[in-house]
Amino acid sequence: SGGSYDYDMVVLGAGPGGYTAAFRAADLGMKVALVERWPQLGGVCLNVGCIPSKALLHAAKVIEEAHEMEVAGVTFGKPKIDTEKLRGWKEKVVSKLTGGLGILAKQRKVEVIRGIGKFVSPHEMSIANTDMTPQSTVLSKGENAPGEGARKISFKHCIIAAGSESVRLPGLPDDPRIIDSTGALEIDLPKRMLVIGGGIIGLEMACVYDALGTKVSVVELTDGLIPGCDRDLVRPLEKRIAKRYEKIMVKTKVTKLEALKQGIRVTFEGEQAPEPQIYDKVLVAVGRSPNGKKIGAEAAGVVVNERGFIPVDKQMRTNVSHIFAIGDIVGQPMLAHKASHEGKLAAEVAQGEKRYFDARVIPSVAYTDPEIAWVGVTETEAKAKGIPFEKGSFPWSANARSLTLGRDDGMTKVLFDPETHRVIGGGIVGPNAGDLISEIALAIEMNSDAGDLGMTIHPHPTLSETVMFSAEAFEGTLTDLY
Ligand code: FAD
Repeated sequence: SGGSYDYDMVVLGAGPGGYTAAFRAADLGMKVALVERWPQLGGVCLNVGCIPSKALLHAAKVIEEAHEMEVAGVTFGKPKIDTEKLRGWKEKVVSKLTGGLGILAKQRKVEVIRGIGKFVSPHEMSIANTDMTPQSTVLSKGENAPGEGARKISFKHCIIAAGSESVRLPGLPDDPRIIDSTGALEIDLPKRMLVIGGGIIGLEMACVYDALGTKVSVVELTDGLIPGCDRDLVRPLEKRIAKRYEKIMVKTKVTKLEALKQGIRVTFEGEQAPEPQIYDKVLVAVGRSPNGKKIGAEAAGVVVNERGFIPVDKQMRTNVSHIFAIGDIVGQPMLAHKASHEGKLAAEVAQGEKRYFDARVIPSVAYTDPEIAWVGVTETEAKAKGIPFEKGSFPWSANARSLTLGRDDGMTKVLFDPETHRVIGGGIVGPNAGDLISEIALAIEMNSDAGDLGMTIHPHPTLSETVMFSAEAFEGTLTDLY
């Protein structure tokens, strides 16, 4: 086992990257410790990220779908929202999952050590006890507190999986009405709310609050919502929320937030900037920053860049070869499925397996209404980089299943290599886009071409047929070649 060390493997941080790494390492026979400052396992994703947000988005979806059935002659009353109960339900979903992780850790004999971990040498970590919770880290308080009863452990290998936290805008007043995503998940409903940041996290929370009855506005600095995603995929979302939200401001900068008695006064700058406005709450969702500078990396000799990211190679090794890093702390995309994939990989490499990161693509999903998902090469990227591509697309207004759901605003597109006809990317907007995108991801990983997608019999009537039809649409443009 650990030989002269306490553990074969110490994993710092129990998010989707860390717990996956710890479990894999234990399955491979290592003696493993998993260090976590929060009371529950699961990290940001389970406690204050993916899972609670998706639970609330489900509630939003049910409310909206019920409302939309009015045109079909099925009328429900105005929903009564007991936020305390909704919060409790969301928390139950979360604790079922985090509790499950606790059991899995026990079964694998992974020792969970509570407290804030910091490197003290290349093979040692000190762990200070605190009573920190995901909610208490909003302001990063106590991060550098010495803590009581620090203990020291030694390790042969280590995987850093300390994740990220919400970016705080500089100079913000310290006011409970200015919240980040963690605060937003508490669904203390304001009448009027501004979301700063039109990225995935901001728009998902906007979607929840809108459905629950808050008057929502969104302000985004760049020229469009969900930067990085093709505009044609974002358009159906823009169209839908333009009708519902109070205001959507792009190319607009927030220059000042003032805490007044009657609300938070926000000053905007930009061509279409409105007069200063007063909101009951302001959600700041302007991105996440890695925790690289808070773990004493220098004591282990691990390089952390100026932004707090830890550079790694294709085997997830840092510059110190027995120390690995994975997940949000190593860079974009900051997504749970990337973290867990890397976690498994790092554990296997530490065990001596000849593995390296060779996933071709990592899918992205906005779980808004409609959902937006994309994978591989985007059209925007292809045009910018001069990557040759042809496209097959299919509007959901012509898809039977979409119409039976009462929706016609979706779209599927698949990008192909013009010479080989292999799938190189794809995007989907519409209900369940996030579930549907995996088929295109698999097609890319398997080197599939348009014929593979077009000739695979898809069940009818389903939304997945739009992937097959996109391939057929692309092949249709080729008929004169044959
Ligand atoms: P994290 O999940 O950040 O976990 C890091 C862990 O390390 C934490 O538990 C932390 O307490 C612990 N830690 C840090 N420093 C120390 C220390 N010194 N000592 C001890 N413990 C420490 N991603 C998706 O893929 N899909 C989604 O739908 C999605 N939705 C999101 C919604 C929201 C509101 C947010 C905020 C994020 C969302 N994300 C989503 C992103 C996702 O949560 C992250 O990509 C993912 O959690 C990263 O995993 P990780 O293992 O790298 O780190």
